[in-house]
Amino acid sequence: MIPVSLPYLPDQKKYTRYVRKIYDTHRLTNDGPLVNELSVRLKEHLGVSNIVLVANGTLALQIAYQVVGLSTPGKTSEVVTSPFSFVATSSSLAWQGIRCVYTDIDPDTWCLNPSQIDDGVTNLTRGIVPVHVFGNGCDIDKIRGVARKHGLKVVYDAAHAFDVKFQGHSILLEGDASVLSFHATKLFHTIEGGAIVFREGEHAEHAKSLINFGDVTRGDRSLMGINAKMNEFQAAMGLCVLDDFHTIVERRKEIVAMYQDELQDVCLFQRRNPSCTGNYSYFPVLMETEARLIDGIKQLELAGYGARRYFHPSLDKWIENSRMVSARVSHDISSRIMCLPLFPGLAETDVKKICRICKMAQR
Ligand SMILES: *Cc1c(COP(=O)(O)O)cnc(C)c1O
Repeated sequence: MIPVSLPYLPDQKKYTRYVRKIYDTHRLTNDGPLVNELSVRLKEHLGVSNIVLVANGTLALQIAYQVVGLSTPGKTSEVVTSPFSFVATSSSLAWQGIRCVYTDIDPDTWCLNPSQIDDGVTNLTRGIVPVHVFGNGCDIDKIRGVARKHGLKVVYDAAHAFDVKFQGHSILLEGDASVLSFHATKLFHTIEGGAIVFREGEHAEHAKSLINFGDVTRGDRSLMGINAKMNEFQAAMGLCVLDDFHTIVERRKEIVAMYQDELQDVCLFQRRNPSCTGNYSYFPVLMETEARLIDGIKQLELAGYGARRYFHPSLDKWIENSRMVSARVSHDISSRIMCLPLFPGLAETDVKKICRICKMAQR
């Protein structure tokens, strides 16, 4: 079975060299040298300064919400967010006691539609959590405008947007914070892992305390934290994958070009934000109807290919105690979208076969 995504494994000898270092130093976790090395290299690679490495992307989201102040202890707060995303965007809000309020996505870019955010804003609203879905940058200028008008914080779920540039700089510099996931299936990974990029250095320092129990070691009991530290084995994997990152992206780019070439008259693609670079993290296609999508997935599976419904169902149908303001487009898109296999080791012959099956399903 050829999966939708296959975690990238770097050279085993190289990884073992890092593991040996861990054995030599007995530093396994707690802000160790490899986590620091990865942090320095990511700052350089991404062109950001206030980055905090975290155990996974979901905890990274929760920490970011807490630090920028999307939740108010003892009071209900609401956040306007996208119904079209992976469940963690919303479940992490709910876990922080924040009510998810859904306004619709744009039918072409599949990102939060800025002109509808207003409809979801009440006097309980503290922020906006837009998603750069499939690595496609949101309409950043308009979202900034809406946030300013209502005095709201913005935390971008940038789990798909590693290395994406907006108007020539890292997209992670936008908003009050941006959150990355380094899960094994993501473009860049540390087995499990994530990071938060904050606009303000003070916020990054606050987050560094929160991920380590509120920094009990300093004897400060005023700050209640959690355990969300990245460990040294995770960082070692990240350092190895980062070395190969350019090659990984180049190969993905070639595969995406093949898909686009074969399927441009067959399926609808996501409209990319022209102010942003792409990162080839996913290859989603929109089928004409849900029936064709289901047929396509069945045929692909019979031929030995995994295709996944990304993202289904629309989150407003999934998250309890949420409030749906508008999600008509999200319902439509999530009913007929799938992601096709995309990873560096995927062969051209397989891409061709996958495309043939998609064409048949659309006829
Ligand atoms: C993967 C993902 C997350 C969660 O990240 P984990 O590292 O798996 O916890 C959050 N949001 C989106 C959009 C994702 O794709």
